Formats: sequence, structure tokens, C-alpha cells
Amino acid sequence: MGHADYEKIEVVGEGTFGVVTRARVIKTGQEVAIKKIRKPSGKNGADLSTLRETMLLAELRHQHVIESSEAYSHNSALSLVFEFCVLDLEKAHSSLTFPPRPMLQILRDKTTPLDTSRIKGYLLGAFRGLAFCHANWVLHRDLKPGNLLLNASGHVKLADFGLARFYGSPGRKFTGQVVTRWYRPPELLFGAKHYGPAVDLWSMGCIFAELMTRAPLFPGGSDIDQLSRVFSLRGTPTDESWPAVSKLPDYIQFKEVAPVPLPTRFPAASPAALRLLGDLLSLDPEQRPSADKALAHAFFDQAPPAASPAELVPRARPPAAQQRGEKRPNPDAR
Ligand code: AMP
Repeated sequence: MGHADYEKIEVVGEGTFGVVTRARVIKTGQEVAIKKIRKPSGKNGADLSTLRETMLLAELRHQHVIESSEAYSHNSALSLVFEFCVLDLEKAHSSLTFPPRPMLQILRDKTTPLDTSRIKGYLLGAFRGLAFCHANWVLHRDLKPGNLLLNASGHVKLADFGLARFYGSPGRKFTGQVVTRWYRPPELLFGAKHYGPAVDLWSMGCIFAELMTRAPLFPGGSDIDQLSRVFSLRGTPTDESWPAVSKLPDYIQFKEVAPVPLPTRFPAASPAALRLLGDLLSLDPEQRPSADKALAHAFFDQAPPAASPAELVPRARPPAAQQRGEKRPNPDAR
């Protein structure tokens, strides 16, 4: 298969390294997403990232990891073909519904109720995908709502493996310049070069909080601002609370602040939800749970149960209701 086998429909997103287009396989009608990789502007940037993504995804086959079917080149641009997902947790580009296609979104659309069942459903999918990646020695390193996609049947898929890496060889040094800042853990902000799966667990904590409040937890404007936002919620770390934090390459001393109790910041969350959130947002990476541990957390056993995949796809209103301009009930209006 190659370029001529696909009919392009519309551009649905843009990532760091290229534009993503919804397309159809001409022979079968199956929908796919094609990521066309931009020509590298700098030193090998796009090439390396693409190669990494292609190689890693060829190895990782899992219900909660985006499936990549092929890579082809056309007019000297490289394209990667993925299973099509109807939306990501951050924004929407739905092909699910009748015209005019309503823009569906999960996090930013405050009119779509996001109850605990659905939060559990999204998190379970993401943790399962992540546990699989970590079991296969792959760190994602760029988890954020825009990289958690949902396919038409409501399965969460980890996507965008452009920054992912194999880990595991002891002593191996990594770059700290990974993970979009708002979701970046404090050890990377302090310049850690030796790190592991815990970096992804911090990002999951930020995503969990964002699913509950519908707003980014730590929207830092710079690396320093990022750290001060983190510490103003979690408290300033010391060498007692986080052994050897002061030895990290870019460590700087921050004004001492005490942690804010999580129930103050998240008054609607259950104690179990806050225990999991608190564990994920441990400043010391050693204290964060693994993805497997998070999956076994009491939060997921308690009522209400996680929503089924079918319930995870937000449904649009029927066209008649739209034409009459009826308003949906706003769950936040009290
Ligand atoms: P990425 O470069 O992988 O982060 O992709 C950029 C954006 O394109 C994402 O945030 C999604 O909105 C969209 N996108 C990526 N992959 C897919 C896919 N398989 N199906 C549908 N949309 C996608």
C-alpha cells in the first residue's frame, strides 16, 4: 500500500512533527489517520522522532496503544498510517455523527457530564496501555490529554510515541527535555538524567486531576513557574521528603511552602480518588506507584464502576434537537 491507496478527507490535528489527516482506504472504505512528517528543519529532529515512533509502535501491539499499520514515502515526505480515532481527551474532531458535525470534546466541553465512572474508564484504558509499554521497557515521555485518543468504540489509545524510548540499561543517561511542560515531573524540571517509568505516572496524575476539574493542574509559563506551581500544591521538597533532591543537576532552592491538603483543592473527589492522585503526584519518583499498582488501586474497585467503552464516547444530540436550538442541561449549573 502507499499514497495512492488512500483518499484524504480532512486535516484533524497537528503535532510537533507533522500534520494528521483523516483518510479512507480506497479499497475497503476503512478510516485511517495519516501523519505526514514535516521535513526536518533542524538536526535530524523529525527523522529520529519518526524512526523511533515507527520502530516502537511496530513492537507494541495492545488494545490501548494506537495501532500503526504502515509507513510510506511520497514526494520525499514520510507518512505513518494509524487506526483512526474519533477524538482525543483534549479537543475534538469527530467523524462520529451526522452533519453538521458537532465538535465533541471531553475535557474542554463543560456541558458533557464527566462523572466518576467515565473518569475511571479513561484512566483504566490509559493505565492498561501504559502498564503494557512499561512491561515492554518503553517510556512514553509525553503523556497529556491530547495524546490519549479514543476510537469509535470508546477504547482509549496511547498515541504519539515520537518522544518514547526504550529504557532499562542501568546507568543510561536520558535527556530531560521531554514531556510537555504542564505534565512534566519535578525530577525532569530539576534536570534528572537517570529516570524511569515514574515520569509517565506523574503525567497520569496531572491528567487525572484535569479530568476531575476540567482545567490543567499546573499550567506553568516557564520551567521555574512550573516548579513553583507544583510545590505550591505539593509542598517544597527537602532531602528528607525526597532523598538527594538537592543533588539533581538543575536543583535550585525554592521558598519553603507546606503542601495543600488535596481535599481542599478537590472537594468533590472521594478519599480513594485522592489517595491515588496523591500517590501519582508524589514529588519523589520512588514514591509513585507503577502503572500496574495504579490499576490495582482501591479507587477502581469502589463504586461507581468504570464506564464501559461504549459509554466513553460522548454522544451528540439528535439533529432535530440541534435545529430547534435546544440547550443541553448544564451539569455545572447549580
Ligand atoms: P500527534 O502528532 O500524534 O500528537 O497528533 C497530533 C493530533 O492529531 C492529536 O492531538 C490528535 O488530535 C490527532 N491525531 C493523532 N493521531 C490520530 C489518530 N490516530 N486518529 C485521529 N486523530 C489523530
